[in-house]
Amino acid sequence: MNANNPSSRISKRNRIARRTRMFEEQRGICWLCGGRMQLTAPEESGFATFDEIRPRSKGGSTSARNQVLAHSSCNKRRGALAPTDKQLKRLSEIRAVRQCHENP
Ligand SMILES: [Zn+2]
Repeated sequence: MNANNPSSRISKRNRIARRTRMFEEQRGICWLCGGRMQLTAPEESGFATFDEIRPRSKGGSTSARNQVLAHSSCNKRRGALAPTDKQLKRLSEIRAVRQCHENP
């Protein structure tokens, strides 16, 4: 485990709750490739991980607003690249769902 990982700043319980909520908001779909993710089984390639929309290396925060779930493999492959048009479209759909939740 990386002790410098900023996601360790929030408690494990909060992290699990956040992941579960995001997973439902995204209907289990990876925002980077559009494929199905797994909420459990970290050893599997489809495992859902937090991805920062604005990468931390570019000053992005680890707040829930800057995070979406992506496959661990997609997350790694993306690195700090800017999102593609397709990815931005998925992102806007996810944000629309989130706004519905925030403003019922
Ligand atoms: Zn993916």
